[in-house]
Amino acid sequence: MASASKRVGKYDLLAVIGQGSFGTVRKAIDTETGLTWAIKIVEKAKLQEDHGVEQLKKEIALMKLLKHENIVQLREVMQSQHYVYMVMELVSGGELFDKIVSSRKLKESVARKYFQQLIMGVAACHQNGVAHRDLKPENLLLDENDVIKISDFGLSNWMPKTGEALLVTPCGTANYVAPEVLKERGYNGCVADIWSCGVILFVMLAGYRPFEDKNMNALFNKIERGEYSMDRSFTPLAQDLISKILVVEPSQRYTIAQILQHPWFVIDFDINRTRALAAALPAPTQDQVDHAIAPGTSPAMGSSLTPPTQNLAPPAAPTGPIKLDAFDIVNKLTLGILTPLSSQQDPAANKGLVRRVLVRATIDEVSIVLERLLGMPPTRAPAPAANELKGFTNGATGLVTFGISFTATTAPGIYLMECRRGRGDFLEFQSLIDKLLAAMQGQLVSVDAPH
Ligand code: ATP
Repeated sequence: MASASKRVGKYDLLAVIGQGSFGTVRKAIDTETGLTWAIKIVEKAKLQEDHGVEQLKKEIALMKLLKHENIVQLREVMQSQHYVYMVMELVSGGELFDKIVSSRKLKESVARKYFQQLIMGVAACHQNGVAHRDLKPENLLLDENDVIKISDFGLSNWMPKTGEALLVTPCGTANYVAPEVLKERGYNGCVADIWSCGVILFVMLAGYRPFEDKNMNALFNKIERGEYSMDRSFTPLAQDLISKILVVEPSQRYTIAQILQHPWFVIDFDINRTRALAAALPAPTQDQVDHAIAPGTSPAMGSSLTPPTQNLAPPAAPTGPIKLDAFDIVNKLTLGILTPLSSQQDPAANKGLVRRVLVRATIDEVSIVLERLLGMPPTRAPAPAANELKGFTNGATGLVTFGISFTATTAPGIYLMECRRGRGDFLEFQSLIDKLLAAMQGQLVSVDAPH
């Protein structure tokens, strides 16, 4: 099927490398630079049927928006009288699906690497308000360096900023689709994407799908009931992560922030390596920074004296300086990132909004470390929140603001440090706090310390 005879703009079209429902994908060479690309050639006549024009416009808009190393990049779009040409980066390592089929199942370390890349790509989509809605191994391409690129945004949809309005069109390949999508009562596409990631993880590790049945109705019933069995070869940690993703009730399902903190996921993972490519935003004004942490969310006002089981009760306002005893500290820490396996209770921790750490360092000492990291001193909040630092950083994805509060414990010199994200990318926030903690190595007290 190879053909070098056709020319589109400055590109020579070469062999056909794929066939989609709307058109053909060909390898192409830029005659000016000699670089190779993939060009998706869509026949306009086909688009007239099935609302294809809208679909394609959406796909192009989304691909232009999403600049991430784990998402197929769109270079340019051209058109002739009869065709639309989408010039994309050439992803030449084939589909993840074929890799799983040829190796029967993947080694845990390989599956983990792909899953980490998948989650980073999906996180980038979601941060841009885009749900993919058709995640499956066939839509995950591998480049020559064995890096995953999410492709096929044909079914994707914008998510409303608030995340409140729900999608109503059931989409995606049945085996990978979340139960709430099948129920056709409206669903949050981003939360449904996470289910699909869980199915993909299962498939990579097991070599078969968790939900399978020749009969469509029976398949749907299994998915809606979350009826599947773990493969005997799964390690306990892998099982734990899968069981927290394949949760039928969307509100109980693991979030991306939780996945990022799961002990199975974090092995060999370097969050700083995987960054979005978006240009940094202009520096924020002091006003923006001051208003970034919403009133009433002061960490000092948090549920410090509230045991996990009563976590939904409104926090009591402190009447004087709080001193946490060992019991309070354990409660707080077990609500936060340090013990992700048990961090179901705290909505802020679950959304990646808060990190809690026990430190042997004063607010002034941490302020100095932050100044070194950020190149400027954080702001010290005025009384009554004088135990709080506020700051910001301009990361790859834009402005990230944060607040860090210090609560004395009954152990002399030891403080509970609570780091809260104000606004901005949670990955940038996590990365900043990681750097802060790395710089404070000698001053961190482990969660087991307050016996
Ligand atoms: P749909 O039919 O829903 O449009 P699809 O994934 O089958 O989805 P295309 O996006 O047109 O259709 O892709 C067809 C095939 O071409 C893919 O399965 C993939 O193997 C290959 N392909 C697509 N994009 C690239 C790319 N950038 N680099 C290399 N191969 C690609």
